[in-house]
Amino acid sequence: MVSLKKYDFIIVGNGLAGSLLANELLEKGQKILVFADISMKSSSMVAGGMVNPVTGKYLAKTWLIDELFGLLFDYYRGLEVEFKERFFYQTGLFRPFANEESKANFLNQIEKHQLHDYLEVQENTNAYSPHFNVNLGGMYTQKAGWLDVPTLLSKIKEKLIFWEAYKEAKFVHEDLIFEDSGFRYKDIFTQKIIFCEGFYAVQNPFFNWLPFNPVKGESLLAKINDYGIQSIVNQGKWIMPLGNGTVRIGATYSWHELDFENTERGRDELLSNATKILNTEFEIMGQQAGVRPSTKDRRPILGEHPYHKNMFIFNGLGTKGVSLAPYFVKQLTDFIFLQKDINPEANIERHYPLYS
Ligand SMILES: Cc1cc2nc3c(=O)[nH]c(=O)nc-3n(C[C@H](O)[C@H](O)[C@H](O)COP(=O)(O)OP(=O)(O)OC[C@H]3O[C@@H](n4cnc5c(N)ncnc54)[C@H](O)[C@@H]3O)c2cc1C
Repeated sequence: MVSLKKYDFIIVGNGLAGSLLANELLEKGQKILVFADISMKSSSMVAGGMVNPVTGKYLAKTWLIDELFGLLFDYYRGLEVEFKERFFYQTGLFRPFANEESKANFLNQIEKHQLHDYLEVQENTNAYSPHFNVNLGGMYTQKAGWLDVPTLLSKIKEKLIFWEAYKEAKFVHEDLIFEDSGFRYKDIFTQKIIFCEGFYAVQNPFFNWLPFNPVKGESLLAKINDYGIQSIVNQGKWIMPLGNGTVRIGATYSWHELDFENTERGRDELLSNATKILNTEFEIMGQQAGVRPSTKDRRPILGEHPYHKNMFIFNGLGTKGVSLAPYFVKQLTDFIFLQKDINPEANIERHYPLYS
């Protein structure tokens, strides 16, 4: 008779969702095992990692701006301290005004939506002028920046390996056996299981009924000579400084080709936008593509399966995983350990009527 290895939690997937959740559960002293299939590509490994409290053409405040932005800077800095590694950069974000009309519109929006806490108008734009057309000034957000997601995930992976909590294997849903007090999977017994599979949740037989709406995205890596600009610059597309003259240019949105392949169309779209924004030459060094785990109502999905007790999902981080994940990791763990309510807009319960 095979003796079972016993765990409190299995986590399926080690993208941003699974990794941050795993780290939190380890900190809570839980015995966990994370399944990671490295042949299944991850959105997190190609993410720009940007956090930006005011987004979109019409300057909309990010959903739950106070809750998310009240937490995330300290959260990622805390992880930097824990792992003794730099991976979070509060660079700020500058949006040059493209023309007089858009300048007037933006100034109007700042007044109308009372965005003064998040945006300041900058007339002196000398720092940007070597590379951008900034004659009309622009708007600056200090509470913006980016997370080097792959570096953070590699640190969490090292920690998982140290605690014997990492298994590099595909989790096969059909091999999960339901038992009274938990779940059996091959030679493993776990009390609880949490699926953090990103885009691949559409293939999960327990959760494939949820209204996912994955969005493919591509970005370019480029080199610009003498690029000393420290902030992200955004004018439709964004240019993110990665250091040593390397920048990331992003990103595209496509609801059609849901794969991780680079396309010529993506490259052309980004190149054409970058050429409009930048007034200096740049050299393309690489291209990356991924599929964002978005949902139809653009809100995350977390909570317990409507029928299977102790089976959970943490998904739907969409285009803003870096901003959403810290807050919703806490929401999910507070729900599991303290029976606290999950924000109704993110709670899987809003979709229970779809389950049959
Ligand atoms: C081009 C692009 C740019 C982006 N830019 C930003 C940005 O600037 N800011 C931002 O906040 N977000 C951005 N995102 C979105 C961000 O990547 C996501 O919100 C976030 O990373 C999703 O994390 P996740 O863990 O849910 O999914 P993923 O990162 O996709 O992770 C899921 C993991 O589960 C694993 N998995 C799935 N099924 C199984 C199985 N059966 N067994 C074992 N393992 C399994 C996969 O291998 C994968 O590693 C961007 C995304 C793209 C594509």
